[in-house]
Amino acid sequence: MELHSLNHYAYKHNYLVNFSMTLSALIFNFSKAQNRKLSGGITCRGLRIQEVSMAGKAKELIITGDVNITLKVLELTTSGAPKLNMMMKYTEQNIANKLKGETMDYGLVLSDYDTKANKFNKNIPAIYNVRYKINYLVRLEQVKTLSQLSNNDFVLAIVDRIGLKTDKYATGGLTAHGDVPATVTYNEWCKYPNIATHEFFHTLGLPDLSGKSNSNNLMFEIASKTNNLVSNKELANMNAYLMEDVVSISEGNYSNQSFNTVKKLRNFLNNPTNGFKYNKAKFR
Ligand SMILES: [Zn+2]
Repeated sequence: MELHSLNHYAYKHNYLVNFSMTLSALIFNFSKAQNRKLSGGITCRGLRIQEVSMAGKAKELIITGDVNITLKVLELTTSGAPKLNMMMKYTEQNIANKLKGETMDYGLVLSDYDTKANKFNKNIPAIYNVRYKINYLVRLEQVKTLSQLSNNDFVLAIVDRIGLKTDKYATGGLTAHGDVPATVTYNEWCKYPNIATHEFFHTLGLPDLSGKSNSNNLMFEIASKTNNLVSNKELANMNAYLMEDVVSISEGNYSNQSFNTVKKLRNFLNNPTNGFKYNKAKFR
C-alpha cells in the first residue's frame, strides 16, 4: 500500500476571531477595515449563554448558537484542478461532520456572567465549566486573488508538490507551525480526500497522532483513504480553540486584522525548506 505522510506541526494561536453581532458593530467594522469586504475565518451573529449553578459544584455556562467557519481555498496548481469543486464539497461536509457534538471545558477563567444584563462583566473574573453546544456552519470558498483574502482568514492552498520530507513518505499536506496556512497537494488530496480536513484541523490546534492504535484517526500521521475518526477529546480541543475568546465573541467584537494571513502564506510557500512547487502566476 502506498502511504503518504501528512504534515506535522500545529500550534494553538490566540485571538483568531472575527465577530459581528450587531448592525452598528458591523458598520463600525466596515469602516475600520477601510471598505474591505468583511470576512474572516470565524463569524458569529450571537450566542445564547445560560448560567447553571448547583450547590457544591462549579458554576457552569451552557453556550449555544450558530458559528460560521469559512475556509478560503486558493488553487495554485500548474495544470489545473478539474475535481476542485467536488473535493471542496467533500471537505466542507467532512469538516462539518467532525465538528458536530457537545463538549465540556473545565475550569476556564472568564469574566463573571451577568444573567440579568445578559453579558459578561469584564471587571470580575470568574471560573466556569463551559458546555459548548455550538452549531458550526462550514463553508469552503474559492478565492482567485490574494485581495480576496482578509488578514484574519483561514486559508487552504492547493499546490503541485511539497518537497519537504521528514520520513520515507511523500508529503501530501503541510500546515505552518503556529500559523494560519494549511496546504495540500492536489493529487494527494484527490487520492486521500481527508487530507484537507486533517490539515485544517492542524490550523485548529490538533497535533498529529502516531502509533498503531491511532491508525483509524483522522490525525494519524500517515494518510489513508479511510482514517477519519475524531475523538471526543480532539473535538473538545477544537471547541476550546475556536471559542477561546468567548467573552469577545459574545460582545460581537471584530478583531485580528493583524493576523496577516497573506503575508504568512507568502512566507510559508516561499520558505525553501518546505520545497513547495506551485504556479506562481496564480499567486497574485
Ligand atoms: Zn498532520
